[in-house]
Amino acid sequence: MSDTPRIFDGTASVYRNLTLVTIAWTLAIAASLAWNIGLQRGKTLDLAKNEAATHIGKDFAFRVWATSHGGVYVPINPKTNTYPNPYLTVPERDIQTPSGRQLTLMNPAYMVRQMQQSAITPFGVKGRITSLKPLNPNNAPDAWETVALQAFDKGTKEITEVTELNGKPYLRAMRPFITEKGCLKCHGHQGYKVGDVRGGVGAYVPMDTYLAAEREAIGRLSITHGGIWLLGLMGIGFVTRRNLQLARERQTYTDALRLSEARVRLLLDSTAEGIFGVDPAAKCIFCNRAALEMLGYPTEQDLIGKNMHATIHHTKADGGPNPLDECRPLAALNSGGDITANDELLWRADGSSFPADMSSYPMRRNGDIVGAVISFHDVSERKQAAQALAKRTQELERSNAELEQFAYVASHDLQEPLRMVSSYTQLLARRYQGKLDQDADDFIAYAVDGATRMQRLINDLLTFSRVGKRGKPFEAVDSNRMLQDVLEDMQFAIEESAATITHDELPTVQADPGQLHQLLLNLLGNAIKFHSAQKPAIHVGARRQDDEWLFSIRDNGIGIPEDQFERIFVIFQRLHSREEYPGTGIGLAVCKRIVERHHGRIWVESELGQGSTFWFTIPVEARA
Ligand code: ADP
Repeated sequence: MSDTPRIFDGTASVYRNLTLVTIAWTLAIAASLAWNIGLQRGKTLDLAKNEAATHIGKDFAFRVWATSHGGVYVPINPKTNTYPNPYLTVPERDIQTPSGRQLTLMNPAYMVRQMQQSAITPFGVKGRITSLKPLNPNNAPDAWETVALQAFDKGTKEITEVTELNGKPYLRAMRPFITEKGCLKCHGHQGYKVGDVRGGVGAYVPMDTYLAAEREAIGRLSITHGGIWLLGLMGIGFVTRRNLQLARERQTYTDALRLSEARVRLLLDSTAEGIFGVDPAAKCIFCNRAALEMLGYPTEQDLIGKNMHATIHHTKADGGPNPLDECRPLAALNSGGDITANDELLWRADGSSFPADMSSYPMRRNGDIVGAVISFHDVSERKQAAQALAKRTQELERSNAELEQFAYVASHDLQEPLRMVSSYTQLLARRYQGKLDQDADDFIAYAVDGATRMQRLINDLLTFSRVGKRGKPFEAVDSNRMLQDVLEDMQFAIEESAATITHDELPTVQADPGQLHQLLLNLLGNAIKFHSAQKPAIHVGARRQDDEWLFSIRDNGIGIPEDQFERIFVIFQRLHSREEYPGTGIGLAVCKRIVERHHGRIWVESELGQGSTFWFTIPVEARA
């Protein structure tokens, strides 16, 4: 039983769940981190874009301002790298102040480019102005700018890109600038109209600080996510530990349950009693091996789910149907009590039947009957044995009756010829005693003695055979008076042996008076006959014990060896020779028959040389 297979391993599923939940948790945290990093990156880009937009806007403002004034005159100054713009072909490009200072007209593009190259560079943001049709070749676009400018022509409002400049990260942004009226002064000859995309203004925004802030934020995000991930793992670990504990407990319970089931199964299968269980619809839910064998089914599965009444208990012994509502064993399903049903007929799978004693016990759950357990055993052998016994008893009774009849008839019919033999031998003795020779006297004496003994034997046998046959109905007999009658009959023997006979107050009993007389006569006669050297002292006692009167006849005679206590009640069994004590060995057998006819018992207690006590009982209520 120790190798009961484990069907359920709860811990495996807990470990499987642990793996799944851990993976899911890690993925969720990773996704959240990635999403947050993405957000952060977007924010970084937005900040840089904003800065770029600010610069571009400022450049626009300068440009718009300069355009609105048709450019500005500034002193020509090599220190500030300010020279007349060779690409500007307008009248009065270069003028002289009254004091003689040389001024040159700075067109907006020139002005903005100079501002971008010199004044703004120290702030880290580099400006850029470009056009697909530059007047100044320095303003020619690079490859990215060319693509951007072409996109502006198609309506795009802003182009950005993160790139590297001199090994450092920069955001490069560019917006289109639109031809205004003031632009046409210089660029009208190029074919621009008001509203056309003239070119693009761009800015390079250094990203280092933004990226540093971004790295810091991502670091913080990573730490918080890591912390949350760890907390989650701890939670998962905690829950897993609890689940493992629960799974182990469940495993323990399951193992215990399976062990107990296996024990019950073993118990069921090791008994010779057929046992099966049914649900409330009388359908089989289990069945032990003995039941299968007795009913002739190979496996339990052949009966499981079948209506047991319809399968094994459907027909009565007379061949008539056995209705379910008359099924005594299954009544346990309704009555709720234990039921014993003897001599039921059960049907085997092969169509044969056998008698069975059945017991059924209801199964309860929370007070409701949920089925019944039914046990049964084949009583064919017992029935056969009982029948055989009944037959033998009958035969025995018949042969006893015949024997009794024979003994009665023989002893009765022998009485008459015997009486003649006895009378005539006695007559012979009286008439010829001393007149013939000594031998003749002896022979006659032997014949007389033999005839007398035979007469006694025949009488005793007749008495014995009459106990059963010629018994009288029971009546109330006062045993005190009965004892007095007996003592009167025994007067001679009492006087001769100088016996003293005492007695208790004796009850009135239900008995056959003649037989009670015979019983007392035999027992008291023996008590006097088997006296020792002392004078016989006899006591007749009686007391009530439960439903019986218990009589005792106690003497102080020779006693009886213990190993003979039973034997002396058997007919013709004597412990002494005729020379020692006369008798036929029938007296106690007669006593036994009389007591048994009165439904009582008789036995002796004795100690050799000390005396004997004969006990007998007579039921208080007559049962004749
Ligand atoms: P019987 O008296 O004719 O011999 P019983 O059947 O009355 O036959 O007794 C059977 C034997 O039991 C007797 O032979 C005797 O040995 C023994 N027995 C009966 N009663 C007594 C008694 N009161 N004391 C001693 N022995 C007894």
